[in-house]
Formats: sequence, C-alpha cells, structure tokens
Amino acid sequence: MSLRERASGPLPVVAPPSTVRPWVGPEGQVMRRLELHLTYHCPERCLFCSEEHRMVGFSRFPVTWGRVATVLRTHAERGVGAVHLTGGEPTISPHFLKACMLAKKLGMRTSIGTIGTMLSRADFAEKALPWLDEALFSVHGPCAEVHDRMAGRQGSFQQIIAAMTLARRLRPDFGLFMNTVVTRHNVAHLGATVRLARRLGVQLLVVSNTTPEGAASDRYEELAVPLDVLRDAVSGLGDDAGEMTLRFFGMPMCILGDLAARSNDVHWDPRVTVEWMRSEQGVVYGEAYSWTPNRRRCHTPICAQCTRSALCQGVYDRFAELFDTSLLQPFPDSSR
Ligand code: SF4
Repeated sequence: MSLRERASGPLPVVAPPSTVRPWVGPEGQVMRRLELHLTYHCPERCLFCSEEHRMVGFSRFPVTWGRVATVLRTHAERGVGAVHLTGGEPTISPHFLKACMLAKKLGMRTSIGTIGTMLSRADFAEKALPWLDEALFSVHGPCAEVHDRMAGRQGSFQQIIAAMTLARRLRPDFGLFMNTVVTRHNVAHLGATVRLARRLGVQLLVVSNTTPEGAASDRYEELAVPLDVLRDAVSGLGDDAGEMTLRFFGMPMCILGDLAARSNDVHWDPRVTVEWMRSEQGVVYGEAYSWTPNRRRCHTPICAQCTRSALCQGVYDRFAELFDTSLLQPFPDSSR
C-alpha cells in the first residue's frame, strides 16, 4: 500500500468532463502545466531572487483558499494535468496541504519549488509527501558556507539537505529534483554542487543561469557570470552528473559544448502562471501564458548565422546590453 493510501484510503480521481477540449497555443502547443503562486512570503533572502519585487508588491494581497481551489478546478477542467506550486515558499502557505490534496483528487501531477522550510520537519513531510509527486529543491552550493551566502540565511543549507534526505527516506519513489542558480559567487563550486546532488540521489538537476528579474535585476552586474567562465564551469559536468538527468536553464546552447542537447530550451513545456499581477483593472490574481521559453532572452547579430537559432533562445537581454557576447559561436550548417 502506498503512503498516500495509508494516509487516506484509495484516492478518488475526478476525471475532466469528456467535452473538454485541449487548450492549444499559437503553434499548436497543448497547455498541460499550471504554475500557481500560493504565497508572497519567504523566510530566505536569496541574492538572485527573481520573485523579490513581486513579493514586496503583493505580500499584502492574500492568496485565499477560495482562489486556489477555483484555479485548480478550472484548470483541471481545461485539461491541465500538472500543477507546480510555487511562491515565495509554498510550504509555508496555510493552503499548501489542501492544495496538494485537491490537485491529486482532480487527477493532477503535483510538484513544488521549495527551499524545504516545512518539509524538513518529519511531521509535516509525512502529511505532505503522500500528495506530492515531485519537488524541485533549491540548493546553490555544495556546503553551508556557499549555499547560505547565496540564500541569505545561516542554517538554510542544513534545512534543505534535511528536507531532501527525509523525502528520500519517507518515499523512495519520490521525484527528488534540484535547482541550482549559478552566479559569480558560486560558479567555482558548480562541479562540487553537481556531485552533491548525485550523492543525495537527485534524479533531475537544473543548472540555472541568473535571470535578470527581481533582486537579480537590481544587482545583475555583480551576479551575472561572463560567458568564458560559464563555458569552463559547465564543461565536464556530464561526468559529474553520471546517470542523473542534467538540464541547463537560461544559457546559450553554444557555450554548453557537448552538453548542448541538455539545454532546457529543447526540453520545455508551455505553462500558464497564475499569480497577482497589475492590470488596467488594478491588482488581479490573473493568468499569464508562456508558450515558448524565451522570457527576457534575445539573439545577438551573430545568431543570424546559427543553424540552431530556432531552438536556442540566445542570451538574456540585460546580458547582451552589459557584457561581451563575442564568445557566442554559431552552430555551422553541417550540410555544406
Ligand atoms: S549563436 Fe546564438 S542562437 Fe546559436 S547557440 Fe549561440 S546563442 Fe544560441
């Protein structure tokens, strides 16, 4: 019997009505994934937090249970089969457990992006894990010294490693995923971070470039990693990763060398994000659609010669403004 069945008996799944049509994007992409912001609070203060401005702007607007339940139900009815709960830190939302349970009852796959705040507590993890399929844990270094500096709080590393270890012990079949954001402060430790992920039993590791949003936008010049440093840091990560699935987010494909096929630009699903946003009507808990992974990225003039420009989304627009991009190397036309 699974942990979920032990917790509450066999799970009733409410199938979407058969009349529901798939939600199709401009190029025929089918929308399957919902990203739901459950809270605008977080106990960490990550140097690169892309959500910081939204947390400051919207933390006084409560995300009520009524909103969460309505969003889950309406998206399940539209054929969205997976929800990723995010924030802020989603596990501190008073609606976190109920949201996971309702999503499972609606037949959705459930995941979270987390720093492990509540999942590091055994009593909470035992209640939550039966309703969660996977978690993307944010680990930004191989040790407390590096990670805690990135996360802005002492004790953060110890907490997240405890949460990951607990998840693996309580549910060996759990999707243990990890995200590591690369900045100038931790790029020298990237290989060691990948090896740590492997030792922890991580199945999927996302190596993310610093995105010029939120706090990272405020200090982008301090954080962004030059292309030559990034290229050297990622070379050899395939060996460090071993059998673990490795993905690179927000990086030009041509600096990934023989790991270019692991670019997230070619392993990406459309998503609808539900969060507080400003509109002509004021602040609304609304929907934003992403059909391609090109947020804040651009091609440079040299990309016009590249045979992969339709796949690769290029560099961040701020990066192109501020840094040298002459290291970008167009993929040649091999048919010539
Ligand atoms: S040259 Fe441009 S389009 Fe081609 S891989 Fe590099 S960044 Fe991407």
